[in-house]
Amino acid sequence: SLILTEFLDRAVHLYGKKPAIIDEYGTRYTYEDINKRVNSLSYGLSSLDVQKGDRVAYLAPNTLEMYEGFYGIFQVGGIMVSLNTRLLPSDYVYILNHSESKVLFVDHELVHLIEPVRDQLKTIEKIIVHGLTENENDLISYDEWLKTYPSTTFPRVLLSENDVSTLLYTSGTTGNPKGVMLTHRNNYLHALSAMHHLRVSDRDVLMHILPMFHVNGWGSPFYYTANGSTQVMQKKVDPKVILEKMEKYGVTVMHMAPTVLQSIMDNYENVKPKIEQNVRIVVAGAAPPKAFIKQLEEDIGWEFYQVYGMTESSPLTLASYISSEDDGVDDDEYYEMKVKTGYEMIGSQVRVVDELGNDVEKDGKEVGEIIVKGPGVMKGYWKDEEQTNATIIDGWLHTGDMGTMDEDRRIRVVDRKKDIIISGGENISSIEIENVLYDHPAVQEVAVIATPHEKWGETPHAVVVLRSGHEVTEQQLIDFTREHLAHFKCPRMVTIMDELPKTASGKILKVQLREYV
Ligand code: ATP
Ligand code: MG
Repeated sequence: SLILTEFLDRAVHLYGKKPAIIDEYGTRYTYEDINKRVNSLSYGLSSLDVQKGDRVAYLAPNTLEMYEGFYGIFQVGGIMVSLNTRLLPSDYVYILNHSESKVLFVDHELVHLIEPVRDQLKTIEKIIVHGLTENENDLISYDEWLKTYPSTTFPRVLLSENDVSTLLYTSGTTGNPKGVMLTHRNNYLHALSAMHHLRVSDRDVLMHILPMFHVNGWGSPFYYTANGSTQVMQKKVDPKVILEKMEKYGVTVMHMAPTVLQSIMDNYENVKPKIEQNVRIVVAGAAPPKAFIKQLEEDIGWEFYQVYGMTESSPLTLASYISSEDDGVDDDEYYEMKVKTGYEMIGSQVRVVDELGNDVEKDGKEVGEIIVKGPGVMKGYWKDEEQTNATIIDGWLHTGDMGTMDEDRRIRVVDRKKDIIISGGENISSIEIENVLYDHPAVQEVAVIATPHEKWGETPHAVVVLRSGHEVTEQQLIDFTREHLAHFKCPRMVTIMDELPKTASGKILKVQLREYV
């Protein structure tokens, strides 16, 4: 049976005395310690009458408490609903009521997001706060509460692999978040595939930088547990702290958005002579510029690995290229494969199809929608059969992402359907323009959006954040794109801003940008 609790059981039996978690304060917990805390949590949940199929919500950054929440909930047969920490109080009202969550765990630093709307939460029976040393007013301290329950083995609730394990609301990059139901089987098989592709082992030390509330940190609490890795918790994306911890704890692997990677590298340059590190691989859900990857791999020695996926597919389904000795791949080809989005991961089937559902030419040119089949494809959207049926057609998940396929089945994500700019009948990829601008030395960050145009329908508009100490005019940036892109693809307008609006996982919110500029 493919039930996620097996992952922790396995780690406890095989790696019980090994450090499992290093928390925010540097305290180490072995897998045996974690198991005890998880048992207490399960007893606590069942005393709150959490039963099979009940939803338990978490509003927390990456912490020990958040991690143990997954397993504590699974042991009682419940469903983990992890909330994005960057939403508005009204969003929490929507998600908690929509998911009909019964219990809410909140980090003490985030209580203020819930306080103003507490009386609007229709189904929440109890709020328990992480990080409070004692009960305060009517808030329950998690530690105090946990202490009152036994840490002995919790009698498991019988589950089947098709029971839902996590309910995750999507990032909301393109609109309202949707509740994605992932079953035990979904998360379990995804974990096996990811474990293989990322070569996860008991020697790994993962730093949780990508938020676990965001599609379970790409499932990492599952596959770094199954193989007995050590997991370092990191609450905030603070490049200096990340660099310090990397050295202190011998971190070997990190997952993050390329924007975060870029900010770490900017700081790395300043502290480089002092840093000793063991990082073997950094994983990102998009490609930074080729020159950046080259610098990362050659000057610093971190292998870059690109993955592609979406909440609806557990999430990862495509993976770029991980080097292997004697693979006969030359340098140029090597970096080309790194920026190309990737090849199907084990277990996934991925196609690129035209509007009639026929496969596009395998020429790396014809653009179609990326569709995915495999064990990671969600059970559906929570309480939304209509959207589910519009998204999963004959077992194929329609991603809403557009891509091309090469002769060797390697896929390149071109753009989201909604972000493609249609100018004079031509499809223009916003990502292609962004990649060109990223090669300009003054550009720190860029997003390209469509602006309505009388004659062409739409034209590209670049919104740019400059690197500190650099100056460049809007016209100079337009001229730069003209050296590298066909004329019709070049932005007609450039706006320079101090920063770009982003989701909690570091993705640029083009929806908001379209409203600002
Ligand atoms: P919403 O569905 O609520 O608008 P979202 O799609 O951003 O939000 P996620 O499921 O977190 O929510 O993100 C998945 C999307 O991220 C993919 O559909 C794709 O557009 C983008 N993405 C993921 N990996 C890559 C990649 N390697 N290259 C380019 N885009 C990627
Ligand atoms: Mg999406």
